[in-house]
Amino acid sequence: MVRNRNAYGERGRPGGLPYLIFLAATLSVAAWGQGARYDILITGARVIDGSGTPWFYADVGIQGDSIAAIGHLDGAQAGVRIDGRGMVVAPGFIDIHSHGRRGIGPVPTAENYLREGVTTIIEGPDGSSPLPIKTFLDGVAKSPISINFATFVGQGSIRQQVIGSVNRKATAEELSTMKGIAEQAMRDGAFGLSTGLFYVPGNFTPTDEVIELAKVVGKLGAIHISHMREEAAHVLDSVRETIRIGEEGGLPTQITHHKTIGQASWGKSVESLKLVEEARARGVDVTIDQYPYTASSTGIAALVPQWALEGGQKSTAERLGTTDSRARIKATIVQNLKYDRGAGDPKNVAIVNCGFDRTLPGKNLAEITRSRGQEPTMENAAEVVMDLVAKGGCSAVYHAIAEEDVVRIMKSPYTMIASDGDIPVFGQAAPHPRSYGTFARVLGVYVREQHVITLEDAVRKMSAFPAERLKIYDRGMLRPGMKADVIVFDPATVSDRATFDKPHQYSAGVHEVIVNGKLVLHADQVTAERPGRVIYGPAHR
Ligand SMILES: [Zn+2]
Repeated sequence: MVRNRNAYGERGRPGGLPYLIFLAATLSVAAWGQGARYDILITGARVIDGSGTPWFYADVGIQGDSIAAIGHLDGAQAGVRIDGRGMVVAPGFIDIHSHGRRGIGPVPTAENYLREGVTTIIEGPDGSSPLPIKTFLDGVAKSPISINFATFVGQGSIRQQVIGSVNRKATAEELSTMKGIAEQAMRDGAFGLSTGLFYVPGNFTPTDEVIELAKVVGKLGAIHISHMREEAAHVLDSVRETIRIGEEGGLPTQITHHKTIGQASWGKSVESLKLVEEARARGVDVTIDQYPYTASSTGIAALVPQWALEGGQKSTAERLGTTDSRARIKATIVQNLKYDRGAGDPKNVAIVNCGFDRTLPGKNLAEITRSRGQEPTMENAAEVVMDLVAKGGCSAVYHAIAEEDVVRIMKSPYTMIASDGDIPVFGQAAPHPRSYGTFARVLGVYVREQHVITLEDAVRKMSAFPAERLKIYDRGMLRPGMKADVIVFDPATVSDRATFDKPHQYSAGVHEVIVNGKLVLHADQVTAERPGRVIYGPAHR
């Protein structure tokens, strides 16, 4: 266990007689010309600095919001002294794909993230962000939160605002309006353009149009990050498209939550990684992120053909009420249950959350079909899906990814770790366990148990790599002068606990979390500190 000695008392703030005595001692030590003083001093831990180099023993001293020193500091004075023997001290993790914007209000501690070592989340993924970005970030900046917060701007959200949920090309005037919104978003502090070309209305966007917006944000130093158009039968075409956006848009591009869905696509990560390596060899800056699970999670409408989603919920419900189009929709859902997100069995699809029916979360499509007195055939399950979509839709978990692909993608030096999770209200709904477990699961299962990657490489994929990707140059590594986002964890016990059956379980083994020099998790307890900041992108002014 981590032992702590705290000269200041609970909150680490100076005051009272002990402080005066402490101050006098500090001054006298200073007068002897030795012994620096730190607000927080972590001693005797193995330092994994984020760069990927092997661990080494050192003490880490923190002063104010920054790392003050790394070295032999054991003789120094400290406000809070953390005994790091047996532990690893590392940079706080940066989650480059987060859906935390809804949860950060009701859960400002983001405890699920703290307990897996995450100190910064990047919102606005999958082509979806609030607009304007300034209003969004101003709102977050006003609320006291425990972790740092940043965002992308969503291409789908921009298109929705200018063109609506319609399947057609943009006019020249609309394109110029969209470029203006993208540019303003960068000035407001976004880190880049996210696309969700799988989702309405991103799916109505020709690649050329995305490239035009990519050029705008690329000139301002930002990146493109893509939830790709298709991650199953056509996943390789989608990888090519993502690379093309980077190549022709003149900016770094990232395949987010990379996976290959459905049995027919299992193994295709061999080729997708080859495409990435070939692109990099010719100078295209393409990278990947990934969560360590064999199930994905998104709306149940992911099973519905995209033409049926044009125009929004009301139009979709109308199509489902028309005999002819309902039959065509059903045929596609059956195909998707067989070969795509259903991976051949309705039981592979489980409901996460349903606004109109609180009894459904946690149940799979086979169970729901049976509860209606029907055999769980593909056809009957498709009827259930259509009913759920007509009522407004639910979110779902889809077990349709092969472990071999997860491992292969993780081993790529171009892959970083990201959760694609959110900040759940503890105990509510049946979310994908990635929100609670992503980072700890990589450290526990894929580093310690299976030796897929080294501990140093895992930390790099969670800290320095995403930081550099975003051009956040003062976080993501342990270096004197950098912002003090620092974690202390036990490499022998760090592990995820959240499962698909019991998702509301915090990860274990991360004992101390420091954000901007303040302890937000101390000796396993969440503190009252809320030092999280909004971090602004490269073109912010
Ligand atoms: Zn996504």
